[in-house]
Amino acid sequence: MTLRAAIYARISLDLKEEAGVKRQVYLATKQAEADEASLVATYVDNNISAFSGEFRPEYDKLIKSIEADELDVVYVYALDRLTRRTKDTLALFELCERYNVRVRANRGYDIDPSDPASRLTIVILGLIAEQESIDRAARIRAAYEDRARTGRPKTGGRRMLGYGVDGMTVIDDEAQAIRDAAQMVLAGKTLREIVREIFHARDIQSTSGREMSPQTLRDILLNPRVRGISTFNPTDPATGYRLIKDRQILGPGTWPAIIDEATGENLDVVLRDPARRSHHSGNAPTRYLASVLTCTCGDPMYSRSRRRRDGSMQRFYTCKRSNPGGKHVSIGAEIDELIERVILARMAEPDALRVIQQALAPAEDDAATDELQHLLADRNALLARRESIEESVIAGNIDVDTFGRLENKIAKQVATIEVRLAELTAVHDADPLAAELADASNFPEWWEGASVQDKRRLTRLLMEIHILPGRAGAKQFDPSRVQVTWK
Ligand SMILES: [Zn+2]
Repeated sequence: MTLRAAIYARISLDLKEEAGVKRQVYLATKQAEADEASLVATYVDNNISAFSGEFRPEYDKLIKSIEADELDVVYVYALDRLTRRTKDTLALFELCERYNVRVRANRGYDIDPSDPASRLTIVILGLIAEQESIDRAARIRAAYEDRARTGRPKTGGRRMLGYGVDGMTVIDDEAQAIRDAAQMVLAGKTLREIVREIFHARDIQSTSGREMSPQTLRDILLNPRVRGISTFNPTDPATGYRLIKDRQILGPGTWPAIIDEATGENLDVVLRDPARRSHHSGNAPTRYLASVLTCTCGDPMYSRSRRRRDGSMQRFYTCKRSNPGGKHVSIGAEIDELIERVILARMAEPDALRVIQQALAPAEDDAATDELQHLLADRNALLARRESIEESVIAGNIDVDTFGRLENKIAKQVATIEVRLAELTAVHDADPLAAELADASNFPEWWEGASVQDKRRLTRLLMEIHILPGRAGAKQFDPSRVQVTWK
């Protein structure tokens, strides 16, 4: 079947407007001929007001023609001749999808409803081409809220324990562990015991890949998602972090519940009981300062133990003494508790969480922004070069072979740039530790349940710790040898 084709051309933003439109029609005609399409109509918006996209009578005719199902393919010079805003490009994409129309561009990307990657490509390239300043986080938040309101499962980012990445498929052994943990909570066991007896014993990790911690388990058991309930956490407009305390229950989700409603309500009562929150540190080894402390020689210090003369064990920190001429020190394990107290005091300050979250936020890094600007400039220069070569072909100054060779070379360079652009504009997940801290309503409780790795990471974010030499022969732990430098 012969394709029914239309050409659309619009006055372009460069200075050679008239030539621009003629060239657009010329190139589109060539392409239609190559495809053996039968040309139904040519639409040209050549009025200066088409420049701003305000008044485009020919474009409106084109849309009517698509809606009347008169076309299979539209030839344009580039997508930006059709639409200048991503929103409009997406609307056009949807129209094309409905009427099964392809848009073939001489330059850049096509609209192809049969290609799943086409929509994404259009969105990404549209964003790049416009260089509009967008609040990416706001878009994600809007999509997130929309998802929650329609009861669809949360996907993307870290999956919820018990469910697959689609947020829908139940993972049986994890779901069973959650149900068993719920029963043990209601039977009066502590979260720490449950973590050990269920998650460690069955070798089930948290979905971040770390060992399950009491705090994480508590969050899971209290999370409405495992009860099949759709929620939305509004974000703090200032920081962009979720306000977990203002979590809104939006109604039943479309995914299966792991914990039934009655059990969930009982869990709320037990786990939210203030009497449960005691801060004793338990018997777990707290070597979170290993590699965080710095010896007088400048090397990191690690945890060691030695037997005292009376047979008891003494734990202390020391460096690896890799520099034989250096001045080395060691310090007793009492420093664990000292630094812990310092951290708890620091985190009780009102600005603490914000400072940590800023330190953990995905880098809005200037180098990347610079690179993006340079890449866009390079890409535009290459495209301009290609345009001038095309003009030379039309004018008969360059033969087709030369054109093909040059065009190939430019296309390769542009493709390389676009790969890098896509990398730079990719959305990165926020740090899981930041999310966890934002979710934690009570920092001392979070700290108590945190893994050694998380404690270490948090400590490093807050401070540097240098150990100074002590008085010769001193056996007592001397806090004045601990030099904390805040970051
Ligand atoms: Zn040393």
